[in-house]
This record gives sequence, C-alpha cells and structure tokens, in this order.
Amino acid sequence: MAPLPKHPFDDRDGVIWHDGRLVPWRDCTLHVLSHGLHYASSVFEGERVYNGTVFKLRAHTERLQASAAALGFAIPFTTEQIESATAELLAANGMREGYVRPVAWRGSEMMGVAAQSARVHLAIACWDDWVSYFNPQSRLRGLRLTVAPWRRPHPETAPTRAKAAGLYMICTLSKHQAEQEGYDDALMLDWREQVAEATGANIFMVFEGALHTPTPECILNGITRQTVIALAQQRGITVVERAIAFEELAQASEVFLTGTAAEVTPVREIGPYTFTPGTVTQQMIADYDALVGRRSS
Ligand code: PMP
Repeated sequence: MAPLPKHPFDDRDGVIWHDGRLVPWRDCTLHVLSHGLHYASSVFEGERVYNGTVFKLRAHTERLQASAAALGFAIPFTTEQIESATAELLAANGMREGYVRPVAWRGSEMMGVAAQSARVHLAIACWDDWVSYFNPQSRLRGLRLTVAPWRRPHPETAPTRAKAAGLYMICTLSKHQAEQEGYDDALMLDWREQVAEATGANIFMVFEGALHTPTPECILNGITRQTVIALAQQRGITVVERAIAFEELAQASEVFLTGTAAEVTPVREIGPYTFTPGTVTQQMIADYDALVGRRSS
C-alpha cells in the first residue's frame, strides 16, 4: 500500500485558485451538499510542471473543457483564463517542478439527479510531492500488474473519453485490490475483454519492434500517449493503434505505461505474462525526458 503523504491534502501551506481568486490552502473548502460529490458531476485534469511551465497546458485545458461538455456543463472560464489562472497559481506557490490539478464540479444550489441550474465551480491546486507516481524501486525494475476485476465500459455505457470523476470509481477499486495483493497497479480490460489501460495511465506493447496500443474508444486518450506516439514515429518506429486481445500479451517483448504522472514507466509483469524492459522502452524514456527538458540519468 502507498504510504501516507507527509502532509495531508487539506492541511498545507500555500494557496489554491478557486473561482477566480487565490484562497489560503486550508480555507479552500466546498459544501457537503455539492452535486459533484453526490452524483459525480465533476471533471479534472492532471498536469505536470517542468522548470516552471506546464507541459502541454493547452491540450490539458482543452480536454478539461471537453470533459465538462461531455458531462453537460460548461466551465465559466475560458481556456485563456484557465491558463493565466494556472500561471498565477504557480507563481504564488513558487512552483517550478510539480503537479497541477484543475477540478470543475456542479455546486450545491440543487440536490437530486437533475441539477442543470447548479453553479459550476473551478479550482486549481498544485503540489510537488508526486515526484514519482509509482514506487521508485518498482519503476526502475519495471512494474508488476495484476488484471483488474473491473472492465472499462462501452462508450455508450459511460462518457468514457472524459476525464470524469465517475470513471475513477472502478480505477480506485481496481488499484486498491492490486495494492492489497502486492502489485503496483492493475491492467484494466474493456467490456470486450481487450486490453484497455492501467488505472491511471495508458499502455503500449512492443511486437516485433513495432509499438502497439489500444484504440482510444473506452479509455482516456492520454496526452502522454499522443506525445509518445509522435516521438516513436519521429524515430521511425511503427505505431499501430488497434484492438488488442489480452492473450496477445504472451507475444509482447516489452510493455510500458504512459501518463502525465507516470511519464514512461516500464512494466515487467501482467498476470501470467512477463516482459523485459528493452531498447524501445529505453528510447521512449530518453526521448520523453529530453522533450520535457530533463537529462536522462
Ligand atoms: N488513463 C487514465 C485512466 C488516466 O487517469 C490517465 C492520467 N491522466 C491516463 C490514462 C494518461 O493520461 P495523460 O497522459 O493525459 O496524463
């Protein structure tokens, strides 16, 4: 199980941007009867700050707006306003390296399934103690994944492309079970029993030197995923997006995960299958590190 952070997330110094102003961290609260809490009308982003700048901020902000639209609400701030709020927040907290979490939700004016007139709120927080999303030791050796007991839903069962809080219910359940069984994470299959993604990261496999990754139908189309696809293509590596049956993992020589927090992380085991992090994974780690301005160790 992951250890408790040194500082709980509601008891820290610094400020959080909330509906247009910077609020002292500990005072940035919301009402218990918020619709977002009861009915999961909440969307969020996960962004990474490298050397004082958010990597791919425009793509993240646009995805936040698109996730809100998928849940039928509009964030009352423009993309430009959200971006300048992010810059203001980073400056106020002196953040050079870290993680940024914008979250938008329906408020407490209405209770019940329907809440079309409830006010939409936006908060943006940042922190710097997610230097490594996975345990650094496991990351180095390659992660061990179990297979999640939950399946990613059909795109007509849930707004599967949105980064919406409700879709993380099955991710948390799956990751908790994985941790309790001593694994680093869980591979989620989709409703067809095909390879989907990990609980907070996308997945890539190497088959005969080519990179294969699931088509983003019922998974989050990760911004890191799209970045890694472009990096691989620049290297002349063939990238294939397709439906991948779980049993095909038996033929994969390398597997890695991608995500804003996970970056490029090698995997060495998924259920009965084992892999050796190799040249394609190392190349993608090096290329990603170079792109975000970090020197590879
Ligand atoms: N899938 C899920 C379920 C995630 O939570 C994340 C992390 N946001 C990803 C994939 C990777 O997305 P990104 O590269 O945009 O961080």
